[in-house]
Amino acid sequence: MKKSVADNSLEKIVSLCKRRGFVFQSSEIYDGFPAVYDFGPYGVELANNIKKHWWRSMTQLRDDVVGLDSGIFMSPKIWEASGHVKGFSDPLTECKKCHTRLRVDTLLEDIGIFADEKMTEEEINKIFDENKAKVKCPNCGENNFTEAKKFNLLVQSNLGNFTGDWTKEPTYLRGETCQGIYVNYKNVLDSARVKIPFGIAQIGKAFRNEITARQFIFRTREFEQMEMQYFVKPGEDMKYYEEWRAARWNFYLDLGISEKNLKWHKHENLVFYAKEAYDIEYNFPFGFKELEGVHARGDYDLTQHSKFSGKDLNYLDPQTNEKYTPHVVETSVGVGRTFLAVLTEAYCEEEIFDEKGKSKDPQDIRTVLKLPFNLAPIKIAVFPLLKNKPELVAKAREVYNQLKINWRCEFDDNGNIGKRYRRQDEIGTPYCVTIDFDTLENSEVTVRDRNTMEQSRIKISDLEKFMTEKIKL
Ligand code: ATP
Repeated sequence: MKKSVADNSLEKIVSLCKRRGFVFQSSEIYDGFPAVYDFGPYGVELANNIKKHWWRSMTQLRDDVVGLDSGIFMSPKIWEASGHVKGFSDPLTECKKCHTRLRVDTLLEDIGIFADEKMTEEEINKIFDENKAKVKCPNCGENNFTEAKKFNLLVQSNLGNFTGDWTKEPTYLRGETCQGIYVNYKNVLDSARVKIPFGIAQIGKAFRNEITARQFIFRTREFEQMEMQYFVKPGEDMKYYEEWRAARWNFYLDLGISEKNLKWHKHENLVFYAKEAYDIEYNFPFGFKELEGVHARGDYDLTQHSKFSGKDLNYLDPQTNEKYTPHVVETSVGVGRTFLAVLTEAYCEEEIFDEKGKSKDPQDIRTVLKLPFNLAPIKIAVFPLLKNKPELVAKAREVYNQLKINWRCEFDDNGNIGKRYRRQDEIGTPYCVTIDFDTLENSEVTVRDRNTMEQSRIKISDLEKFMTEKIKL
């Protein structure tokens, strides 16, 4: 018997991530590099499984979406056309006492006042001045701030510039992946036998000079996005928009996220070209925050790129001969935020009881990641009961080598079985398979279930069938 005894908190998740090799701070041996994180051995498996799941649901299971992988570097003109060079900025202030740099819109949000990051400097300073008395620096508690200044988030580089002063004509690390989709829209249209409505999906790194990067991997300066742009006939936007909203909501339920931890947030202050914008928010350990944006963007993006490139990006309907600039429905989510949401949802601490309901040992708390099986970094762990019995080790290796062809497996012969179970629980492994002396006689192994902790005996020859049934895509 077991009972959940503690709620997940960010500290606990961060500690598990470090302890078990899911996430490391970047450049740790050099005292770290702010706002960048590295995925460790289990982290990269989990992140890959999340991406695989997204890619499958957005491309493989759809007839109307194709994939793309565009470069991180692109012509700097793209970022002028998209409005990023001029307008991709957050309002920045500095605490006059401790010199911490902070985002004004987030400081105001913390005291319940709405200020959009898209407001002009003047607009935001007006609201900031009116409320300054209530705002405190999260670092030192003082409330003495400089005026808000808009700070551009694009990360510049000297790629391909050999003039010695590249800052005059910088190139940029992409601030979002979707621009690569817009500028390849025509290539895809001409080569992939797609017809409107159709979508292009892409997963890739993006970079932003975020002012305040807190809350672990929730907001980082280097991150990965999973974006899809769906091109539709003008006037049909809202029909597809509603379809995509439903599809994206269901994606999270499918990822094992409970509906009570999800909610929609409607954007009230829309940018001038947008038709509708909602975010899906997740109940992170620090409250409900944006996980994904689902936006109806009108024809703004293709129109801008057509204007700046001088190329015709209109669509000619092969049936009706109508010519138009397609409108776009966008879905956009970060891998890191999904990773954190999945971990938050899965993290669990359980006190173990005996059959009579008595706590076996108050210290005996099991930490378990109840990840959906398809997301678990390791699907099956294989143990020989004893490390120093060559015949058990050899049999366990044989079973391991057989299973690893189809599933990500781990071989572990270290320490007692109880400890090995706990280690696998902490990384969310659905099944542990133990080879003992009976196995050598009757070819049966013990299979232990992560969630129920129940153990059953299964024939080695039936293992593949059992795992195939249990571990679905
Ligand atoms: P926020 O308001 O939190 O800054 P945003 O509205 O600027 O996010 P978008 O530009 O819409 O975000 O990006 C789409 C998605 O990319 C976000 O919903 C989020 O999941 C992810 N994302 C954006 N910025 C970051 C970041 N700095 N770190 C991690 N993920 C991010």
